[in-house]
Amino acid sequence: TYVVTDNCIRCKYMDCVEVCPVDCFYEGENMLVIHPDECIDCGVCEPECPAEAIKPDTESGLDKWLEINTKYANVW
Ligand code: SF4
Repeated sequence: TYVVTDNCIRCKYMDCVEVCPVDCFYEGENMLVIHPDECIDCGVCEPECPAEAIKPDTESGLDKWLEINTKYANVW
């Protein structure tokens, strides 16, 4: 899955949401998140993010953000 990280906080761009083919972005408290079970790993959103906040969870050090994405994606 891809995860949204700290650069997204208070970001007002929604480019990622518009390109996601499976609509798996959700609103967190002050950032967007990706639902880890709905993301199909297409990678389309990553280059569209002007804040470079979206990363594949295969990158190291993202455990905390994966947790946050999971938490807020399930709130709704
Ligand atoms: Fe959506 Fe693809 Fe980004 Fe996953 S990688 S959030 S499916 S655009």
